[in-house]
Amino acid sequence: MSQPRAVVIGAGIGGLTAAAALHRHGWSVTVLERGAALEPVGAGIALAPNAQRALDVIGAGDDVRAMSAWQAGGGLRLPGGRWLSRTTSDAAAERFGGPVVIAHRAALVDLLRSRLPAGSVRTGVAGEVTDPGGPDRPARVTVTAAGAGAAAGRDGGSSAPAGPTGTEAASPSGAAPPAALDAELVVAADGIHSAARRALFPDAPGPRYAGFTAWRFVAPTPEQPFEPHETWGRGRLWGTVPLHDGRVYAFATAAVPAGGRAADDERAELLRLFGGWHHPVPALLAAVPPGDVLRNDVYAAATALPAYHRGRVALVGDAAHPMTPNLGQGGCQAVEDAVVLALLTARATPGGLAGGTGPEDTVRALAAYTEARLDRTMDVVRRSGRVGRLTTWSSAPACALRSVLFAAAGKLGSRLVLRSLDGIADWSPPRPPYADRPRNPPAVRGRRDAGHEGPGAEPW
Ligand SMILES: Cc1cc2nc3c(=O)[nH]c(=O)nc-3n(C[C@H](O)[C@H](O)[C@H](O)COP(=O)(O)OP(=O)(O)OC[C@H]3O[C@@H](n4cnc5c(N)ncnc54)[C@H](O)[C@@H]3O)c2cc1C
Repeated sequence: MSQPRAVVIGAGIGGLTAAAALHRHGWSVTVLERGAALEPVGAGIALAPNAQRALDVIGAGDDVRAMSAWQAGGGLRLPGGRWLSRTTSDAAAERFGGPVVIAHRAALVDLLRSRLPAGSVRTGVAGEVTDPGGPDRPARVTVTAAGAGAAAGRDGGSSAPAGPTGTEAASPSGAAPPAALDAELVVAADGIHSAARRALFPDAPGPRYAGFTAWRFVAPTPEQPFEPHETWGRGRLWGTVPLHDGRVYAFATAAVPAGGRAADDERAELLRLFGGWHHPVPALLAAVPPGDVLRNDVYAAATALPAYHRGRVALVGDAAHPMTPNLGQGGCQAVEDAVVLALLTARATPGGLAGGTGPEDTVRALAAYTEARLDRTMDVVRRSGRVGRLTTWSSAPACALRSVLFAAAGKLGSRLVLRSLDGIADWSPPRPPYADRPRNPPAVRGRRDAGHEGPGAEPW
């Protein structure tokens, strides 16, 4: 069998991680991104230790941990500034085997694409699953130019000219994309409004509005010091955390009907909703240019899909299990998906496998992927949704009761506060049997944290 082909639809966090992990296992990978460039939205992203351990698998964990900026305390506050509960980065690290890292999304995307060969990411092209394939035939993805400014380009993390990658999709920059790509594996990582999900499961309900909208931006660090915080008001929430590059990442949510947009601009809307809240909120709003404030309505899976695969197509990340951002886990679960998928399908590649090599192995591996990921990710969807619903409470008595409960929990110690991530942030990638590990894998700097030397803690 020649080098097996994988096509990844979508160059978000999930798609790029999947591509990097599959590449390590010997797949010839082509990533299709409909955006004209890899320009990640969203400003900052929290990467909990579960995601960092998944990123260890592709040799990116240490670089992510180096972005850690939260070294001290922080906690939950009320809009007037009163602390309800406090915790420390050490408590989080002790409980989950490492700190939660707040990374800039652009830095994370750069890191992920640097793990891919030049020419493997093609921007300005949309992929559509036209045949999911099966044991006896490859899957097919139809590729079209994605509108204005979508001249096919390359973005493989290098400015070097594209060399041959062994895939039929490795067309030079500017060449017309082929009409169709056949592949032994298709990874549909096309995000929350995934067309691939609709194609594979047309009867499954799509994501449902979670009842709140979210704003995000990055701003310079205010002169007056502040501690990282999440502040809960009536139907509103604000969070501020430092980034490793000296700036801060701020996020906010408000329980409002879907589809709303400020008549003037979103910073003005934030000023109306949060301008009177404690430091550093007003200082940040004064510092951020109006055009830098992102706004997204929040959607989450209403029900579980019947499976995360069909034929030779696997759904990864938000395409499979969109969730509210309240546990900071949507991207983390996407990278978990990606590395588990790469491990389970590794047996279908000729270079690094012990035993299984037939084309039907990939199809079987995808059933194992659903088995490994569906229950875990839907549990996170539900838990995150529960926290999200708490943030939408707006009645004064209900919010007062909520504050009393949080304050009581805080008095019992930070451990209680961190419990929302128990069973989530402490995840480690499964270890394949020794004989299944990639032969001569690219050098990976593994994590060497004390206390995590047990099974599953090492990179593959
Ligand atoms: C306010 C907010 C805060 C969040 N904070 C966190 C956090 O702190 N930590 C965390 O882990 N998660 C967080 N998340 C969730 C996280 O952003 C997502 O779960 C994550 O980005 C999903 O990655 P993905 O690769 O599945 O999808 P996406 O990042 O949406 O990527 C999908 C990609 O596919 C491309 N695409 C779509 N259709 C096609 C097509 N047909 N052909 C080619 N390309 C296509 C899109 O252009 C896009 O680039 C947050 C979300 C929100 C809304």
